[in-house]
Amino acid sequence: MKLIDTHSHLTFEGLENQVDDVLARGVEAGVTRWITVGTDKEHNEKVLSLVASHENLWAGLGYHPHCASDITDADMELLKKQAHDAKVVALGECGLDYYYMNSVAESQKQIFLQHLDIAAQLQKPVIIHTREAFEDTMSILDGYADRLKNVVFHCFGGDSEQTQQVLDCGFHISFTGTVTFKRSEALREVAKMIPLDRLMIETDCPYISPHPVRNIQPNEPALLVHTAQCLADVHGISLDEFAQIITQTSEQFFGLQ
Ligand SMILES: [Zn+2]
Repeated sequence: MKLIDTHSHLTFEGLENQVDDVLARGVEAGVTRWITVGTDKEHNEKVLSLVASHENLWAGLGYHPHCASDITDADMELLKKQAHDAKVVALGECGLDYYYMNSVAESQKQIFLQHLDIAAQLQKPVIIHTREAFEDTMSILDGYADRLKNVVFHCFGGDSEQTQQVLDCGFHISFTGTVTFKRSEALREVAKMIPLDRLMIETDCPYISPHPVRNIQPNEPALLVHTAQCLADVHGISLDEFAQIITQTSEQFFGLQ
């Protein structure tokens, strides 16, 4: 089995100081390739140097909606420059977060739009973070319908209606450990709706350790296997078959070799 952790934060506290061990444990568990995601200027820099020195590790670069109010034109210019790097396989995570509302909605929208501009220009995929902001997220994406290469809704928590909308737009959906939680019956029902050529998985580590290892902190790529097993069960196929199909989905989505 060779899974890809399509969304991790290896530069975050708890993982940053043990990246090589973390990746080695991933390989041992069958999680052999990874994408690590930057969320602000500091982490984007760290992510770039980390992926430069590690094989099978790629980057997503962006400014999280939490910090949208602080982002300047110069910051966006820098991001655009950094995003040209061949090891940067996606823009984001970017999007809208009206749950925390750490930045006002208007600046979140502005910064989100600028990420989409860069992604469209460079023809690189976009990783979307959206919370309590589904309608606005979809209407902004609607304006980019044919210009974006690939779009994934990361850490998906939508209902069946939203899922259908996302699928109808041709976007991908990615699940974290939240889909494994005991109370997540509804989310597992939603996961059944998603064809495996549109579905990906991620740890979003150091956060969201999956059931039944929620007590293990921080989360790390090796634990992705539990999320894979849960979704294989949901789709009624073996873990190996599930892994093979969604690994191919992820390779195609991000253009990984
Ligand atoms: Zn994340």
